[in-house]
Formats: sequence, C-alpha cells, structure tokens
Amino acid sequence: MPSATIHICISKKLNKKLKIDDYEFTMGNLIPDSWRNNGEPDRHLTHFSEKCYQNENYLKFYEKYKKYLNSPFVLGYLTHLMTDFYYRNYVNPRYFTIYKNKKTIIKKDGSPFLPAEEHGPFFRKNKTFLANYLTHYFQIKKQKLNRQIANPIEEVNFDSFEKSLKYINDHELNDKVCENEIFDYSDSLKNIDSCSIFIINELKKLNLV
Ligand SMILES: [Zn+2]
Repeated sequence: MPSATIHICISKKLNKKLKIDDYEFTMGNLIPDSWRNNGEPDRHLTHFSEKCYQNENYLKFYEKYKKYLNSPFVLGYLTHLMTDFYYRNYVNPRYFTIYKNKKTIIKKDGSPFLPAEEHGPFFRKNKTFLANYLTHYFQIKKQKLNRQIANPIEEVNFDSFEKSLKYINDHELNDKVCENEIFDYSDSLKNIDSCSIFIINELKKLNLV
C-alpha cells in the first residue's frame, strides 16, 4: 500500500485544487494507517473493507461520515481511502508478475526477484527508499499532531496516531536518495499525479468539489 509519504504528496496535490486547511487535511490523509498500533489486526475497520487487505470501501466511509465532510480532516480520511484503492488496483499490480507459477516482484530492470522468503524485506526496503526520495524531492517536513483537531471518526484514536507519526518521522521522512531496485522515481511521480486526478474525479461524483 502507498507509504505515508505518498499520502502526504497526494494531499498536497489535491489541496492545490481544494484550497482547504492544509495541516488538518494532511493529518486526515495520514491517520487511517495508524491501525498498526492498536494491537489487533484491524486494518479492515479503519479502511472500511470486508476483510484485511481487500478493497477499501470508501463509499461506506462516505455514507457514515458525510455530514462531517466539511472538515478537512474527515475529507482527508476519505481521500486516503481513495488513494489506497487506486494504488491497490492500478499501481501495485505493475510490480508483480507470475514467474514459474509463483507470484514474484518485477525489478525495475524487468527481471523477476525470486527468493519468496525475501520478498517482504526486499519490497519494504525499496518502498522506504522511495519514501526517502519523495521526502527529498518535495522537501517534506517531519509531522506533528495537534490534538485540538476535532476527530469524529470512531475507528481511529490519537494515541495510536502519535505512535504512527513517530514511525513515519523516523523511517520515511529522511531526506536521502538511494538507488531503487523496484520503483522508477519518475514513474512514481507520474503515479502520484494520476492518482490525484482519479481522486478529484471521485470527489466530483460525490459533489465534494
Ligand atoms: Zn491506508
């Protein structure tokens, strides 16, 4: 799924059009992934999906919280779910292939990455390198939570979110550029643009822009 850094980049792109409170909108775009700290595998709750790691049902979120969508924070939550949906369906599948009957990662040079037991660490390492590159490219600052934000969303809480922000600050928001074996950086910038266009179109359908 897209890293927090990608969520920050997309929130900045969207807000060029939306022109709402940038800080609250960014926080809304980050909070859904604080599910990790809750001690339970409850990603499906914060992402409104039927089961863990299935399609994010952002229309279910919209139905539940539509009366709060004038809040940049709540609107940011909605656009996070749309971002995850877009990456799950239109971006991430490009980095995988079937090789000798097994699902494997395609490296940037087109070759398959084979040892199945190393897939997770290899993918995560390159995902972090991409996050670091985007931090450098967009000059993204470390993130801090202001607990005064009104949060009507019962699926998340600020204690978990603060732990999540600490992880993001420590691991993703480092301004260093490393060679990436999976993600082409210029392609990744294009994905951010196309995802932002997708979201604006979805928001138009819901009469939110
Ligand atoms: Zn997410």
